[in-house]
Amino acid sequence: MTDETPSSRRRFLKFAGGTAAALAVLSALPRRVMAALPHLSAATNATAKALNYVEDDTKAPAPHKPGQDCAACVHFQGKAGDAYGPCAIFPGFDVHSKGWCAGFQAKG
Ligand code: SF4
Repeated sequence: MTDETPSSRRRFLKFAGGTAAALAVLSALPRRVMAALPHLSAATNATAKALNYVEDDTKAPAPHKPGQDCAACVHFQGKAGDAYGPCAIFPGFDVHSKGWCAGFQAKG
């Protein structure tokens, strides 16, 4: 026999609900931090310059091909529809979803 009462069950469910809400808030924090990354610029980043990074893929030099942009690249870590997102090639920076660099690799 347990000493569980409707009142103690309600307290437990209230506690469990509050804990779940707190975990949801905490799990969203890293994504917010990632969204605050500075935008990559070839004017200030030597690697970006060496790889011919541009924010507008229509202005990218060869070997760029139409349809190749960061959103279609395997290294892009942003969500679909995000204007900017992290790139595995440029840690600590966000790249434009319509950008391009010579490190482009099409998603499989
Ligand atoms: S590696 Fe891919 S996602 Fe990163 S900047 Fe170059 S084209 Fe964009």
